[in-house]
Amino acid sequence: MLPETFRCYLVRQTGKDLTDAGVDSRPLRELPLGDVTICVERSSLNYKDAMAASGHPGIVRKFPHVPGIDAAGTVVESTNSAFKPGDQVLSTGHELGVERWGGWAEYIRVPAAWVLPLPAGLTIDEAMALGTAGFTAAQCVDALLRHGLKPDRGPIVVTGATGGVASLSIMILSQLGFRVVAVSGKSQQRDWLMNIGAEQVVPRDEFLNVPNRPLLSANYAGGVDTVGGTVLAAVLRMISHRGGVACCGIAGGAELQTTVYPFILRGISLAGIDSAWCPDDERRAIWEKLAGTWKPRFLMDAVRTVTLSEVGAISKDMLAGKTHGRTLIDVTSGGPSC
Ligand code: NDP
Repeated sequence: MLPETFRCYLVRQTGKDLTDAGVDSRPLRELPLGDVTICVERSSLNYKDAMAASGHPGIVRKFPHVPGIDAAGTVVESTNSAFKPGDQVLSTGHELGVERWGGWAEYIRVPAAWVLPLPAGLTIDEAMALGTAGFTAAQCVDALLRHGLKPDRGPIVVTGATGGVASLSIMILSQLGFRVVAVSGKSQQRDWLMNIGAEQVVPRDEFLNVPNRPLLSANYAGGVDTVGGTVLAAVLRMISHRGGVACCGIAGGAELQTTVYPFILRGISLAGIDSAWCPDDERRAIWEKLAGTWKPRFLMDAVRTVTLSEVGAISKDMLAGKTHGRTLIDVTSGGPSC
């Protein structure tokens, strides 16, 4: 028997361009139509969630809104034969937490196509410690491997290094034998970055303090860029012949000013990464890797766990670039569990 109401983190519009947000209780009948109803145990905080929690118009088009592009928990109702009550599942991306109320809630209802069985080898906590950030990190690494990069080709540069996607990329790459150079704006996290697998940490200011030439010393075989803007433009100029860069983020800007020289003189490639609408076969293959040999050894060491009532403040810190690592959200804390 499902409850009549459920707790969630609700973002409300209070005026033109004004929102407030906090823990609320809503009738279960307000959940959208869908095949599978999931009692959520854990969600996580991604950059897109922080933007949604602030009511960012590029993410939230309809208020009130529940953020959370990640959710993991137990199926409580299903009209699709692929899932039955009691199944442990996860749902990430698609329109979850964007067009549809998301995982910062005790319950979600989603199309069956958005649901995956919890991969064998991952607990619910581990699945959400990875979440979209880990999934995107694995997609970036996968793109570099498919481009043909191997550890003997040289180091990989990872930007926005202390962030969720980047720190998980560092862990996976170093586990696969790559030497990783981390570029970070947080000098105080240097030791942490070295502990999770970076061989070297370059301060962001130093990384950007380079001559204004179309090509620079070819220091890196590849790159994972989560920052965009001037940082990605610098990365492209430092990639060696036939190298590759996976680009997924905009934490530092969405513009990209570059020349074609890195592409036509060094033959480098730039791979775009989209996690939300990743095709299902690729999605399953990536999760299998994350649950197997790519599962970061230090995964749970790099995670802080918070409740729904704490996540608003941490979202603001994230948008101000003040967080590091991953934030796991215990949705059940303070209320009834599944
Ligand atoms: P985080 O906030 O955890 O990481 C972002 C990191 O970028 C920060 O920790 C910081 O690292 C750096 N940074 C923050 N602000 C700035 C700035 N103004 N200039 C330069 N660097 C900055 O976010 P996530 O890891 O969740 O996401 C990273 C990016 O990837 C976001 O833009 C997000 O939207 C995008 N993303 C895209 C996905 C896709 O499908 N394409 C999926 C998931 C995320 P440091 O201080 O160490 O430099």
